[in-house]
Parts: sequence; C-alpha cells; structure tokens
Amino acid sequence: MNYCSLCTYPSNHPLNLIFNNNNVCTGCMVHKEKYQINWKKKLIQLKKIVSPYRNKKYYDCIVPINGARDSYFTLHVVKNILKLNPILVNYNTHYNTELGFRNMNYLKTLHGCPHLNLTIDPKIVKKITKYTLEKFGNIYWHCIAGQTVFPVQVAAKMRIPLIIWGAHQGIDQVGMFSHLDEVEMSRRYRKDHDVFNFEAEKLLEKTRLKKEDLHNFFYPNDEELKRIGIKGIYLNNYFKWDSKSQNEQMINKYNYETNRQNRTFDNYQNIDCLMYSNIHDYFKLRKFGYSLVSDHCSREIRLGRLKREDALYLIDHYRYRKPKYENFFINWLGINKKKLNYFYDKFTNTNIWNYRKKKLVLKNDLITEEIKNEKNKKIKVNRILKKLNFIVSKRNNKITSNQIPSLYSKGFFNE
Ligand SMILES: [Zn+2]
Repeated sequence: MNYCSLCTYPSNHPLNLIFNNNNVCTGCMVHKEKYQINWKKKLIQLKKIVSPYRNKKYYDCIVPINGARDSYFTLHVVKNILKLNPILVNYNTHYNTELGFRNMNYLKTLHGCPHLNLTIDPKIVKKITKYTLEKFGNIYWHCIAGQTVFPVQVAAKMRIPLIIWGAHQGIDQVGMFSHLDEVEMSRRYRKDHDVFNFEAEKLLEKTRLKKEDLHNFFYPNDEELKRIGIKGIYLNNYFKWDSKSQNEQMINKYNYETNRQNRTFDNYQNIDCLMYSNIHDYFKLRKFGYSLVSDHCSREIRLGRLKREDALYLIDHYRYRKPKYENFFINWLGINKKKLNYFYDKFTNTNIWNYRKKKLVLKNDLITEEIKNEKNKKIKVNRILKKLNFIVSKRNNKITSNQIPSLYSKGFFNE
C-alpha cells in the first residue's frame, strides 16, 4: 500500500487512484483545477444549461436531499442562484439521527419546497442488509442504492428531466474525471462505483426477495430515460467546491445544525446518519486500511487548511475508535455482537493488515511510530482541531456522544 505524498490517500482507495512519478494522486492533481478554472464563466455556463428547464408547468427539477452533507448548499444554489422551482426527494436510510430529521424538515420549510420521501418496509431493508453484510461486509448498500435510484425513478415517473446533485465523489475525492469533463449522472458510474457492480437485480438471483420487494431499487431502463431526456448534473463542476466553507455559510444563513462525530473531526457531513461514521466506516478501515478521517484530512490538506504532518495526528487519533450504536444496529438487524465481530474479522483485508498479538497492525502504515508513541499528542490534536474549527451547534454540545436518539431507543423502526 502506497500513500499520496500530498494528501493521505492510499493506493487501494476503492474509487481507484493513480499516482504520478512524484507519488501525487489523481485526486490532488484534479483538485488543482479548482484554482485554475474561471468559476464565474462556469456559473454562466450552468445558468445556460438549466435555462430550458425553467418555468415548467409543475417542477423545473429534482433535488435529492437529506439531513446533512451538501443538501443545504445545493438547494440554496438551485433556489436562489439558478432560480429554479424544485421538488425535493429523499430515500430514508433507516439509520437516521434526530438532528438529521430536524435539518431535513427545516430545509423543506425554509424554501417552501414540496418533498417526496421513500421509506421502504424495514423487513425488506433488513433482508437486504443481512445479505450485503454477509457477502460484502457492507451495511450501507441499500442506502447508496436507494439514494442513487429514487431520484431517477421520480424523474421518470413524473417526467421531470433535470436532477441536480451536489458533489460528484469520483471527481472530488479521487479525480476520476476533470471538472472540465462536466461529467453527468450515469447508470454505468452508479453500477461500477456506487453499488460496486451489484445492482438490485442480482438480489433477485441470490436471495428470496422478489421483484415486488425490490422494485424501488431498479434503475429505470435506458430507453425510458432517453425518451424523457433525463439528465443529472453535479454542482461541483460549476462551483469551486469546498464543503466546509459552504456548510459554514449555511450555518450562518439558515441555521444548519451540526454535531460532533465519533470517528472523524468533520462535524458537518454525515450527522444525519447513525451508521455512516460508525459501523460502516469501521468496515472501511478493515477492508481498505483507511477511514472517513482520512477522507476529511485529504480534503482539508488540499484546501490548504491542514498540514499533512498534522493530519497524521488526526488520523492516529480517530481511526481506531470503536464504532458507536453497535447495539442499536444488531438489535435492529436481529444478529448478536459475536456475529458482528465475526464479520469485522471476515472482511479484514489480510493483504494490508497483520495480526500482532491479536492486535491489527497495518503492514505499511503512514502513521510513524514516533507519532504513535508521542506523549503530548492529545494536546497537539486539540490544538489542530481548534485551528480547523468545525462548529458544533450550541444545543448539541450538551448531548453526550453515547446518546442514541430517543426515537430509536423506543424502537421506532422495529416491527
Ligand atoms: Zn493525493
């Protein structure tokens, strides 16, 4: 496993990274475009692209949202800058936090937008999740599959041809495409990368789930998409993307609420989900040797707010933290702790990990022994975090990180 010399990404990033002769990754190279592109021109271009879709009879476009990520910024752009009239859509991941509900519901009322939510029968979601956990060590397949297909299904059913997304991960994280390619939504990318070549149709073959259980996960067929002319565009091709500063604008402008995360320092991105920066992220560490904190460090390094040497302290601080809400998850899914631990072990990639005295150690770790053994590292970590200054909403400051949202402690989604 090789690491980029500028950010902290390893060569085995699942979205594929290529390194140049100086050991710089494609993500860092494409990031440089952010400082070269004339973004004013790009915005003019975007306005031209969306212009034929404006003033439609009912809705001009679809905007997928949730209670975190870039939802506030995306909708702000669509409503206030592009002056479009959107309908909002959301796939319910079933792993919601109360804060996520609050943010999403508040966002709808802020802009007065109609909203469609898809909540799939938890029995079906659990069957899918049991399968993807067992086969891929993945508890998030249904979330990604649902989030990437529900907006397209709505577009097809309601004949609204334009979908506006926030950032394209393939561009922003790993530089799979240039910003100049203006890459659009495609079934192919979704299949290859979002759902790692495992579309819902395969569940029909592999499980007892039936068509009527899974129809919400099927991508509309190409002919239908073509007939309606469905197009999905990504705003990070037209704006100099910086999720931290965008979310801070949204905190100030619209009171977007934030909270501390267990396994990373970014208090803005995945605060709507109990699992994303916990169990899901822990599997990522076992499978690929890096986790969400490395994503956030790499992004902050590229945007010039974090030094690489300081990032190593943050990675060391967060990556081995125990995932929270494991009990919530195993009770919900109906498995025991032993089974979950079995899956953690089963999906640990032994090409990159060694077991030393029953402890996992990376074969090629970017964190030096010096950092691992440093005595004052806690003080240093606090200093780095203070400088980065990710804001936590006042009322959430008091919530202890062990608290499970009351909705779930009451078994809201259990049968
Ligand atoms: Zn890099």
